[in-house]
Amino acid sequence: MKKRAIFAPFLRQINHYHMSHLRFEALKKLNERERVPVEAPASVVSKFFGENVFGIEQMRATLAPAVFKKVASAIKNHEKIDEATADAVASAAKSWAMSKGATHFTHWFQPMTGGTAEKHDSFFDALAGIEKFKGSELVQQEPDASSFPSGGIRSTFEARGYTAWDPTSPMFLYGKTLSIPTIFVSYTGETLDTKSPLLKALKAVDLAATKVCQLFDKDIQHVTASLGPEQEYFVVDKALFMARPDLVMAGRSVFGHAPARGQQMEDHYFGSIPGRVYDFMKEFEIECWRLGIPVRTRHNEVAPSQFEVAPLFEDVNVANDHNQLMMDVMGRVAEKHNLKVLFHEKPFAGLNGTGKHNNWSLITDSGINLYAPSSSARDNLLFLTFFVTTIKAVHEHGDLLRASIATAANDFRLGANEAPPAIMSVFIGSQMSAVLDELEKKGNVKIEKGDNMYMKLGIDQIPEIILDATDRNRTSPFAFTGNKFEFRAVGGSDNCATAMTALNTIVADQLEKFFESVNKEIEKGEEKRMAIVNVLRKYIKESKDVRFEGDGYSDEWVKEAAKRKLGNVKNTPRALEAYLTKKSADLFERHGIMSHKENEARVEIRLEGYIKRVQIEARVIGDLVMNHIVPTAINYQSKLITNANGLKGLGIDNKAVVQTIKEISGHIDTIKTNVRAMIEERKRINKITDTHKRAVAYCDDIKEKYFDVIRDSVDKLELLVDDEDWPLVKYRELLFLR
Ligand code: ADP
Ligand code: MG
Repeated sequence: MKKRAIFAPFLRQINHYHMSHLRFEALKKLNERERVPVEAPASVVSKFFGENVFGIEQMRATLAPAVFKKVASAIKNHEKIDEATADAVASAAKSWAMSKGATHFTHWFQPMTGGTAEKHDSFFDALAGIEKFKGSELVQQEPDASSFPSGGIRSTFEARGYTAWDPTSPMFLYGKTLSIPTIFVSYTGETLDTKSPLLKALKAVDLAATKVCQLFDKDIQHVTASLGPEQEYFVVDKALFMARPDLVMAGRSVFGHAPARGQQMEDHYFGSIPGRVYDFMKEFEIECWRLGIPVRTRHNEVAPSQFEVAPLFEDVNVANDHNQLMMDVMGRVAEKHNLKVLFHEKPFAGLNGTGKHNNWSLITDSGINLYAPSSSARDNLLFLTFFVTTIKAVHEHGDLLRASIATAANDFRLGANEAPPAIMSVFIGSQMSAVLDELEKKGNVKIEKGDNMYMKLGIDQIPEIILDATDRNRTSPFAFTGNKFEFRAVGGSDNCATAMTALNTIVADQLEKFFESVNKEIEKGEEKRMAIVNVLRKYIKESKDVRFEGDGYSDEWVKEAAKRKLGNVKNTPRALEAYLTKKSADLFERHGIMSHKENEARVEIRLEGYIKRVQIEARVIGDLVMNHIVPTAINYQSKLITNANGLKGLGIDNKAVVQTIKEISGHIDTIKTNVRAMIEERKRINKITDTHKRAVAYCDDIKEKYFDVIRDSVDKLELLVDDEDWPLVKYRELLFLR
């Protein structure tokens, strides 16, 4: 406190060249923070849930029955909506939105930069002097798209791109704007967003899964993929955030010594939620409910200041739109509470990273969750079919799943130090392992019954089992959790669409293959149920290597996985190569998800994104070091030199001080030498024209070579330099002060 009192009067005068005072000013602000009142509606949630949504229910209520029937059937069957119907929907949506005070509409889309984009148009038509919203405006818009990445698909002279209405995701009122979920495509029809391929993959998995379901039940007409994304995040005070240029620019701290108390106590997990954060959570949940986002659980995560929010699962496309929207809502509400939300995959070294666990399953239109074992024999063979086929798909295309979650930020979370390896394996629990082992061996062993869930398959070769839903493994990137799979490797800041596109496509493909193989067996005269069992047995054998029940974080697993020839690709540029193999490119093309050209363009965009991220971080590191860290260290060193000389003059031993001076010199030297070399390297690398090669060079010759060496010295200096002089808000302040 004393220090702040001394510095305060000089703050304004000196803080533009003395970062240290920005740090103390931020801490002072933090000290003075008050809780911001939450405006909570008086009524219960069910009364206002979805009040800002114009979805299927609102359409049913406002459209003529015949028109509504058309819309509903188009949505269900992935069909086009005709112009007259679109006009009717637009008119109803406009009336609804304007009755709630809306003035504008926007096509809301998800470009490949990540996040969401929008361009607002007014309902008011000055020429006609009235508010208008035509079906054609609902269906298609032409945003000024030249600044969105296209991977070379749109040449600069032809910068046109279109957004087109996605009727499967409800419109919503955000602020005073009617927001319409849309896809984003180029003038020539290539997809330029994350939603379009996702919609295609969901259609592919619907078709393939329905075919397979019909082997069991002819009445099943559709299968929907469901997603419940658990979103982790960190919360820090806004003033402290603003005083860390690395958090502002790169979303993560590039420096910072671990606090004396980290997450080793594990006392934060399920602990009580701090007041200001609680207010923030309460308010963003209310906003989410108004928008029809079914957020449900909230709790602390493992690391200090880390939290999680989980919604109820929905259809993948809607769930992902909701996740994107929720992230936006969270950012806005946090501002109001003088907080900042960090979604970055690894904002703080040494602490738990941030993921977005994608809980996923397939559900039939008759309401059967295909990953839920039941007590009916027929349903259980159906369950085993989907269960085994999914494992087989992951085994076949693990490299693609890995690639689907590859980003510069996620590289800090997967395959790095103190992070799970980037090996794609499947955890299924001991009981399901036993079932598959028995099925594989043609054995007929009974596993003891309990009072949980039974699997009575009614086929000799398949044992009866109980499913213990508590069997959990938190180190697996892809885990079966009783009635769904959980793809945990997806990054906290990522859009789920890319991962979900890959997963649903590989499962669709495997289901198609399964269907063909079963039919071949039947043609050979095999009884249908046995034909299914035979193919499953083959799949179990072939995909065994991808199953792993042990500690996914251990070194033994890395060795074991190498023996099993499972991929362990540690960085994005190399992981992305999996998209470009003939196997993957053909897979996407075969299912109508992406043409080869679109696929290549996407990889190009993601490589460019990677390069930019590493470039930004390299610059942030360079700037912080040269403008803040080194000058601070030199100033402090000068003080020590004066002190050492003084001691010497008095004839007092100054060895300890001289030693510190030397240590500081050493670190300054390391930092300067490496930063200079890194700048030279960047100049060389920027001349590489091939994007993939440039990305690899940024990875190996910039990030891997320099980031940690520089950080190491900076973090050591943080411990040596007087706390009063240190310019950057420290980890302990970011993480423990509220
Ligand atoms: P867990 O503790 O097993 O992770 P929760 O019930 O808390 O389970 O669920 C976590 C997330 O998984 C939630 O978002 C939930 O809605 C989602 N989820 C549950 N069942 C399914 C399912 N069948 N398909 C997709 N997501 C699901
Ligand atoms: Mg979970």
